[in-house]
Amino acid sequence: MTLANPVSRADETFLVLKVGGSLVSDKRRARNIDTAVLERYAKLVADLAVEHPGRMVFVAGGGAFGHGAVRDLDENDPLAALVLTEATFAVKWAWTTALRDNGVRAMPLQLAATCLLDADRAVLQPGVLRRALDKGILPVLSGDSLLTDDGDLRVFGSDRVPGIVLGQVSTPIRIVTLTDVPGVLTGGPGSDDVLPYIDPDLPEAAFAHLWDNSAWDTSGSMGGKIHELTEFARRGAECLILRGTPDVASLRFLLSPVAEWPADISYTRIARSEER
Ligand code: ATP
Repeated sequence: MTLANPVSRADETFLVLKVGGSLVSDKRRARNIDTAVLERYAKLVADLAVEHPGRMVFVAGGGAFGHGAVRDLDENDPLAALVLTEATFAVKWAWTTALRDNGVRAMPLQLAATCLLDADRAVLQPGVLRRALDKGILPVLSGDSLLTDDGDLRVFGSDRVPGIVLGQVSTPIRIVTLTDVPGVLTGGPGSDDVLPYIDPDLPEAAFAHLWDNSAWDTSGSMGGKIHELTEFARRGAECLILRGTPDVASLRFLLSPVAEWPADISYTRIARSEER
């Protein structure tokens, strides 16, 4: 297998950008979404999408909608997870309308209708994604419920979504996760000490920094992110975790080699090569 070179120029990098649900939603409140904040992020994402047509997908974190939907699923109902399809469609639609208001040719792509879950890996039927990208349309993705070969629906969280793009594009892939912390913190909650680099073949030390039980659960929180992103990095992607803020003038630096990013941006980078 040829691994993509993780150090790449802006014009050739394919960008997967996830905006974490924690940035636009209060997960303690049912189906909460802060439309005003979402619209500010949508402006920033729109600027990137217009600059980088056909070379980007957007992933919306589930926030209160996603987490609320899966909290009390009936384990005796094999199709119980379909509530997630409805909940995350509402989130995709909120982003799609805000992006379209900002001039982006965006469309929501429902993974329940385009992916199967085989041996716990999502297998994409790529036609719609490929055509959308070919035509310069921005696919708006999210977590969803996916059909297994047993005919059950399984929860497929948003941190797993970037994996469906791997293998679908021939250029180097950068996966950026914007969340409510500036990276993997090494000094506990509220500290400023960010782990700058995780070797995807040796991620164990990074897991030692997680502080809450949910973080250890590989389906959620920072533990879920490290688990998924290290796998994506082993498959050739360059992955970055950083804090999102709607106050920045632009997110265009995300398209540049990391060595050229503004010096005040903290991040955790996960890639096969430590060279940025
Ligand atoms: P969503 O899943 O809705 O998209 P999100 O991706 O923005 O939301 P979380 O899944 O909540 O965000 O993950 C970020 C959280 O991980 C932090 O707010 C923090 O509480 C938790 N966390 C646990 N350990 C660490 C750590 N060592 N460094 C940074 N964050 C950590």
